Amino acid sequence: MPELEQLHHFIGGEHVAPESGEYFESTNPATRQPLYRAARGNAADIDRAVAAAQSAFADPRWRDLSQTRRGHLLRRLGDLIGEHSEEFARMEVLDNGKLLREMRGQLATVPEYYYYYAGLADKIHGEVIPTSDRAVLNYTAREPLGVVGAITPWNSPLTLTTSKLAPALCAGNTVVVKPSEHTSRSALLLAELALAAGFPPGAVNVVTGFGSEAGQALVDHTGLAKISFTGSTATGARIASATASRFIGSTLELGGKSPNIVFDDANIANAAMGVVAGIFAAAGQTCIAGSRVFVHRAVYDELLERVVQRAESIRIGDPLDEETELGPLAFADQRDKVAGYVDLGRSEGARVITGGRPSDGGGLGGYFYEPTVLVDVNNDMRVVREEIFGPVAAVMPFDSEDDVVRLANDTEFGLAAGVWTTNLSRAHRMAARLDAGTVWVNTYRAMSPMSPREGFKASGAGVEHGTETIKEYTRLKSVWINTSEDAVADPFTMRS
Ligand code: NAD
Repeated sequence: MPELEQLHHFIGGEHVAPESGEYFESTNPATRQPLYRAARGNAADIDRAVAAAQSAFADPRWRDLSQTRRGHLLRRLGDLIGEHSEEFARMEVLDNGKLLREMRGQLATVPEYYYYYAGLADKIHGEVIPTSDRAVLNYTAREPLGVVGAITPWNSPLTLTTSKLAPALCAGNTVVVKPSEHTSRSALLLAELALAAGFPPGAVNVVTGFGSEAGQALVDHTGLAKISFTGSTATGARIASATASRFIGSTLELGGKSPNIVFDDANIANAAMGVVAGIFAAAGQTCIAGSRVFVHRAVYDELLERVVQRAESIRIGDPLDEETELGPLAFADQRDKVAGYVDLGRSEGARVITGGRPSDGGGLGGYFYEPTVLVDVNNDMRVVREEIFGPVAAVMPFDSEDDVVRLANDTEFGLAAGVWTTNLSRAHRMAARLDAGTVWVNTYRAMSPMSPREGFKASGAGVEHGTETIKEYTRLKSVWINTSEDAVADPFTMRS
């Protein structure tokens, strides 16, 4: 068997071998074949990467670059990603088993994030504040923070890294990325392209490795000005307390258990497609998965029948095949976790009306799991309360708007929600009443670099995307200038 390719860290503009000399294997979840060996980062590697990012932050080539030129670099990076889009799409499919056609779709939009923040780079500015003392000029300035640590999960690695990298660079910071140990590759290529686009060495660094080693070392590093994290609520909680105790900021995009709600006045065919897309797209491995499906009792049977019919016709198989609709779960533990939850659901009294079994993916032998629908479930069951992160929908009937608002909001999470209705007033009422950072009406999974999003409750803290996120990557300075030449009067009274 040929030697596996070895991937190094990317630090200070160079490929750097891990200090420990250790590497770990990454495998293709569709076939279980080994793909490459990535550097196993530790605290020494993180130290080196943070030092490189600190010197890039202080480097006049970056610090003194005009904001317009910063935007220009982001635009060039977007172009380069576009030129490598097929390569990125294929490497992500091999790493995490997502469908090639979905990844091609994602890759078509990733450059847009860089273009959006390229346009925003020279629109970051402070304000002049009219205080009551006319002799005083008070203005604010928005300054970059310094070195940002970006920690990302495996389910959409390039997109989720981009959601952090583009605004962080736009605001003038430098970054150390720690990608998921399951998907090391795309972040490394991204960092290489950032260098090629003209970002100075050290502006974008990548240390690969495990969460408990490289990830924890990054979180603990005192040279960081901020952590931007996407991942599970449990890890997010640890990061929140570590950053809070050092008084540095964190942006946390965490888990979800999102309701997808179908009213009796909905277009049922569209709603059924929305339910299927919400939970079976990406094999349910998305934070915004519509995993709790609430259906008005009057259309419950019809909706369920349509969803089950479509679930049973989903083509499971090789994610590189354009015809495939459901690829594998991303790794063995993930498949076992999903299977474990379905078994737990059975023991809690849920009825599996379709799916509920691993699949061999048409003979590929990877970590496939059938699209699964659970009924006879309720909000007391763990399969309804906890994030499964797989193709498992829990479907429940409801009787009234008040009833479904109560059920939908009865969760620790608050990431997203879907509503299917043709009643305009109801659409707005539901958007206002649902306790979720994103509400989609008659659509699901829509996203744009222009549209800010925030996870409510245990789904996160802080905003990603849009102009709002710039606040997350800057600090506000207030400057007071006394323009009066008069003698300074009473030293015991504050001026206002
Ligand atoms: P995870 O929390 O296990 O890992 C995420 C990242 O954190 C990985 O890079 C991991 O190595 C690192 N990590 C783990 N332990 C760490 C520690 N102690 N210190 C520092 N870093 C550590 O999550 P995952 O399984 O990779 O991702 C799935 C989760 O991500 C799901 O809960 C999903 O809902 C969530 N997610 C949220 C969003 C969102 O935008 N809200 C998007 C995608 C995924």
